[in-house]
Amino acid sequence: MHEDLIETLMEKTVPSEDGCLLWLGKLTSDCLAPVFTLPRKKGEKEKQVRVSRLMWEIQNDEQLGSRRLKRTCSNANSQYCVDPSHYELA
Ligand SMILES: [Zn+2]
Repeated sequence: MHEDLIETLMEKTVPSEDGCLLWLGKLTSDCLAPVFTLPRKKGEKEKQVRVSRLMWEIQNDEQLGSRRLKRTCSNANSQYCVDPSHYELA
């Protein structure tokens, strides 16, 4: 499942010149953060998740739960960066 998900996510990104991985997909309406709608399982409601958190969880094979992430890069357009190595626990 993870491979499919990673592939889907990566199709919506583009590497930037300064080393970020920029999200080309949907953004939240309030703060314009990268967001992804998880594939819906039967009988479940659609669930939107922050791409930065999802990518971090996949890379670290760990659930974030209530913990917060902090972006460590500050390149142009890096508010759209979803490279998990550019995030750390806040
Ligand atoms: Zn970055």
